Amino acid sequence: MSKAVNQKGKQPNFKRIIEEVLDKKKCTDCGICQAVCFLAGAGVIHYERPAYRVFDDELCERCGFCQASCPVTSYDTSNSDYRVFRGFIGDYIGLRSFKTKIPEVSERCQDGGAVTSLLLYMIENNLVDAVMVTKRLENWAPQSFITNNREAIIDAAGSKYATNPVFQAITSLKDITPSELAKYGVKKIDDLRIAVVGLPCQISGLTKVQNLGIFPSNLIKVKIGLFCYKNYSWIKFQEFLTKKLKIKIEDIKKIVILGDMTVQLKNGKTITIKSQDYESLVNEGCAWCKDLTAHDADISCGNIGSAVGATTVIARTKKGFDIVERARVTNLIEEMPGVNVAEVTKQARMKLNKAKTE
Ligand SMILES: Cc1cc2nc3c(=O)[nH]c(=O)nc-3n(C[C@H](O)[C@H](O)[C@H](O)COP(=O)(O)OP(=O)(O)OC[C@H]3O[C@@H](n4cnc5c(N)ncnc54)[C@H](O)[C@@H]3O)c2cc1C
Ligand code: SF4
Ligand code: SF4
Ligand code: SF4
Repeated sequence: MSKAVNQKGKQPNFKRIIEEVLDKKKCTDCGICQAVCFLAGAGVIHYERPAYRVFDDELCERCGFCQASCPVTSYDTSNSDYRVFRGFIGDYIGLRSFKTKIPEVSERCQDGGAVTSLLLYMIENNLVDAVMVTKRLENWAPQSFITNNREAIIDAAGSKYATNPVFQAITSLKDITPSELAKYGVKKIDDLRIAVVGLPCQISGLTKVQNLGIFPSNLIKVKIGLFCYKNYSWIKFQEFLTKKLKIKIEDIKKIVILGDMTVQLKNGKTITIKSQDYESLVNEGCAWCKDLTAHDADISCGNIGSAVGATTVIARTKKGFDIVERARVTNLIEEMPGVNVAEVTKQARMKLNKAKTE
C-alpha cells in the first residue's frame, strides 16, 4: 500500500483519476478502478453507463489503488501502462496462426476461434478453474462474466465492439457464496484460478493490479489479450444501428470491423459502412492508446497477420507459450500457414503513430 500512497508526494485517490483521466476524456471504460476499490460495494465509486463514474470523497479511505491500477494514469507499477512504448508488437516467444477444430466454436467465433479453443483447453485440462469471457445481452450490450461451463464459453465467442467494464465480473466474486465457489471445485476464493480475456487497456490495467499484489490479482492465472485498434461507445453504437441504419438489434447475426464495418443480418443481407461514416462512435479514450497487440498479456490474439477465418496467436510469456504448444498437439486447434508478422508490425506502428500524446 505504501508504494501507491507515496507516489510523487500526492495524496492518491479517485480525484486524481477525475483530473488525469475522466476530465481529459481518456477513460477506456475498463472498470478496473471500481474492481480494485475495496469500498466500491459501499458506494465510493459508483458506475453509470456509459463510462461515467460517481465518486464519494467522504467515504474514500485514500488507499490509492484506483489511481495506481488505472491503465491511463501516469502511476507506473513497473512499466505496465498501455500508453508506454515497448516495441511495436511487444515481447514474444512464438507467433503463429491457428484455426479451431471444434465445429461449435467455428460457428460462433470471430476469426479462427483460437481464443475460445484455448479457454476450453485450459478448463478441460484443469489449468484454471474458471474463465472470464464477455457475452452479448439481448440488446447487444457486452457483459463479462465468470464461468467454467463449456456451452457458456462457446456461446461467448465472437467480438463485441463496445466498451464494457469487464472487471465488474471479478468484483462480484468478492461476495461469492461457498456453494457458488463449490461449482468451480474450490473452497476458498483465494484458491480460484481464472483465465481472463480482455482488450489491451484492460490487460494493462490488470497487470498494474498484479504488480500491486491486490485483489483480484491472486486469482488471475492467465491473461489473453485481444488485438484492438479502437473501440466504440456502446450507447452511440446502438443509436447508430437502430436510428441511423434503421436495423433492428434482434436481426443482427454478426458485426465484423476490418476497416469498413460489415453488419451481417440473420436474413442473409449484409450492410457495409465506410470507416469514415462511423468514426464518431469511437470511445474518446481510445485516441490515446498505443498498444494494438496487448503487450502485457500471456497470449495475444487478433486477425491481423492471418488469413480470413484464422487467428494470429502471439505467445509472450513462458506460461502462455506452454499453453499454446500443449493445445496445438490436441485436436482442438490446427496451425494455418502464412502468418504475416510484418503486417502485424506495420499495423501496430500505425496505431502508435496515430495515438494522441500529452
Ligand atoms: C473491441 C475489439 C476490437 C478489436 N480490434 C481488432 C483489430 O483492430 N485488429 C485485430 O486483428 N483484431 C481485433 N480484435 C480481435 C478480434 O476481433 C478477435 O477477437 C480475435 O482475432 C480472436 O478471434 P477468435 O476467433 O480467436 O476469438 P473467439 O474464439 O471468437 O473468442 C473471442 C473472445 O473474446 C471475448 N470478447 C469479445 N468481445 C470482448 C470485449 N469487448 N472485451 C473483452 N472480451 C471480449 C469473448 O468473450 C471470447 O472469449 C478486436 C476485438 C474487440 C473485442
Ligand atoms: S478507497 Fe481507495 S480505491 Fe477506493 S476510491 Fe478511495 S483511493 Fe480509490
Ligand atoms: S480507464 Fe479504467 S481504471 Fe481508468 S478511470 Fe476509466 S474505467 Fe477507471
Ligand atoms: S483502443 Fe486501446 S483504449 Fe481503446 S478499447 Fe482498445 S485497447 Fe482499450
